[in-house]
Amino acid sequence: MSSHQITGDSDDTPPANSTESALQTARRQLRHAAEQLAIDPNIVRRLRHPAKVHEVTLPIERDDGTVEVFTGYRAQHDSVRGPYKGGLRYHPDVSRDECVGLSMWMTWKCAVMDLPFGGAKGGVAVNPKELSANEKERLTRRFTQEMRDVIGPMQDIPAPDMGTDPQTMAWLMDAYSMQEGETIPGVVTGKPPVIGGSQGRQEAPGRSVAVIAQAVCEYYDRVLEDTAVAIQGYGSVGANAARLLDDRGANIVAVSDVNGAMYDPTGIDTHSVPSHDEEPEAVTRYADETITNEELLTLDVDVLIPAALGNVITETNANAVRADIVVEGANGPTTSTADSILNERDIPVIPDILANAGGVTVSYFEWLQDINRQSWARKRVNEELEREMQTAWTAVRDEFESRSVSWRDAAYIVALSRIAEAHNVRGLWP
Ligand code: GLU
Repeated sequence: MSSHQITGDSDDTPPANSTESALQTARRQLRHAAEQLAIDPNIVRRLRHPAKVHEVTLPIERDDGTVEVFTGYRAQHDSVRGPYKGGLRYHPDVSRDECVGLSMWMTWKCAVMDLPFGGAKGGVAVNPKELSANEKERLTRRFTQEMRDVIGPMQDIPAPDMGTDPQTMAWLMDAYSMQEGETIPGVVTGKPPVIGGSQGRQEAPGRSVAVIAQAVCEYYDRVLEDTAVAIQGYGSVGANAARLLDDRGANIVAVSDVNGAMYDPTGIDTHSVPSHDEEPEAVTRYADETITNEELLTLDVDVLIPAALGNVITETNANAVRADIVVEGANGPTTSTADSILNERDIPVIPDILANAGGVTVSYFEWLQDINRQSWARKRVNEELEREMQTAWTAVRDEFESRSVSWRDAAYIVALSRIAEAHNVRGLWP
């Protein structure tokens, strides 16, 4: 390979004993799925790389008058099926590579759901817990200003992700709109409903996790009433999935936040435990019995839902997982080595790009409402989301059955065939 060529095919193998980056996981998964499909290798080669990565420097005045400088990114992976779409995260571990890996997952996620969007992800390397609300607002406005030329309702539409919320999206929309000279709600999704956000958007990722968990239980002939579920994370994904599954009859035996997990084998009343949005990091304060997050992952349950951080099921603990089914609520919670171990152990892993896709699906509904100046009732949003999830589930299940591949590969096959077909028919220009 000549030195000026961009990265080749070997850069998805992490050195032994190091943690796999999101980009390495995403590339390994792409390679694995592409091997099962007769996809033009030229297209796979293109999909290994983002179309563009924007990096900006963000000088922010702290409340004490000092200036601190942060780095922000927006990775735009692929737009063959529509404008770039994906979240914006504020987290100390944000890096260029992480954003690229996460942007690839957004491309697949939108394609699995058949949404007319491509994939993007952005972030700022910062600990949002160390910022006051005013500092967070200044950071968000500055980020928006620096990215103004590359985002927009027909170009790239951010949304909430780790460390950001509807308020962050409201500042982003305001900063963008003020500079453009008109109110443009469609530049961002996950906004508060009063300024064009969609009803049901905040609960949507958790809702889709619950819908898919229920579908997979039915597929394996399990009655929800007899199903014990452990959920890592009690934020917008974990808490909403827990409550919906609880309402539908499942027995939620463990939920957690950064401080640890609440464990009750007789079943937790999920509505009486405050979610991260209602009272941050309070889960263990409401618990009679607590266990660690690590112990939660290896509980003997029917369904395990990692719905917090990435890379939590690794080669170190994958052999100790005792759940019968894993449903990925977080983005990238399973490393590729752990994925192979779970596969060999015949533990089905329902991938993130299907299970938590409710977030971006209701983002799509929000974007439609914004550009058409409409407002849908919550009932309509939830019904349409449920329908979209069932359609995607059926498409993935059909590939799973007809090709005898893993659930992850089946989801990738659905996504990649749509993306590859779009690239084929559009062609490579010039
Ligand atoms: N951040 C969410 C995700 O990872 C939502 C993205 C969106 O709505 O654009 O799927």
